[in-house]
Amino acid sequence: MTDLGLPAVPPRSDLSMGDGLAFAARGHHFTAAPGTDIQELAQRSTEPLSAILQVTKRCDFDCSFCSEVLQLPDPKLTQLETMRDHLKGTKRIFLSGGEPLMRRDFGEIVDMFADDNFVLAVPTNATHGLQHAKRIAGKVAFANIGLEGPRGITNRVRGDYDKVMPGVRALQDEGIPISLSAVVYRSTLAALPFTVQIADVLNAGKVKLIMPLRKGNALNLDANEFITDGEASEAFGRLGELRSTYQWSPALRLTTWTPENEGHMIVVEPTGKANAWPVYDSKDLFEPIGNVLEEPIQEIWKRYRFKENHYRKYLGASIRAIGHGGGGCAA
Ligand code: SF4
Repeated sequence: MTDLGLPAVPPRSDLSMGDGLAFAARGHHFTAAPGTDIQELAQRSTEPLSAILQVTKRCDFDCSFCSEVLQLPDPKLTQLETMRDHLKGTKRIFLSGGEPLMRRDFGEIVDMFADDNFVLAVPTNATHGLQHAKRIAGKVAFANIGLEGPRGITNRVRGDYDKVMPGVRALQDEGIPISLSAVVYRSTLAALPFTVQIADVLNAGKVKLIMPLRKGNALNLDANEFITDGEASEAFGRLGELRSTYQWSPALRLTTWTPENEGHMIVVEPTGKANAWPVYDSKDLFEPIGNVLEEPIQEIWKRYRFKENHYRKYLGASIRAIGHGGGGCAA
């Protein structure tokens, strides 16, 4: 394992969550006891394992694959407090965006949720890492950084590599565990080994490979950039072999957009509107399921029709996984 001598933050280590469920801090994923019937567990569950809360829609990048390009006003802290109260029971919250670190009061938001024993994760482009790292250290389980590998690729498809990396270092200097997410195009396939090499040097817990969804900016992508599920699996297999050859440490995850992954995420917009995501035949791939400003997540969960997909995905049963015991996690 790569060891840069970074200050070790005690992981919010393997938190037991009842029902044989646990959150494995090192691999940033949920686990279930061997032999767990996930279908049965999902059907008798009363709330989600994981939800994505958009604390802002603003962002300083304009990634070529970004799905979240429509702007909405930021929720006020008082509204976020109500959402937090209504989200209680959800095991993990992604404090997401847009770019969540664009909010100057992001530290206050983290404090607000950290007090309630949620596992917190932050999907970020890291450009504002320096401003927030100290304040959020020890309170978030991990930061998930979007990076498509080397400078030339990241600059082309995402934003500015040289703004991302200082933020990554700032988060690491405060001991915040990181993982990487890379959106995969046909034209970026060849760079995937470099992405994992970078992740290894950064001591990232995992690298998640994600296929673009046809929404927002991705509607303007050349059709040739979308690879098939089969091609994605083949590329993932090759990457797994290289991981073994080069003894890269990060776990690898691949999520493709198959029927068994449909609607598995719950995304809460700044207005409190909760949606199943992605629902392939719905407008904007969102299927509205309620509003967490108005009702508790337990009520919303009752009408959520993708419970099994949700549990299977977050317990690693519907994704390709290499390393760290096969659990899954993703925004
Ligand atoms: S994908 Fe993320 S980092 Fe890129 S523009 Fe959208 S919100 Fe910003």
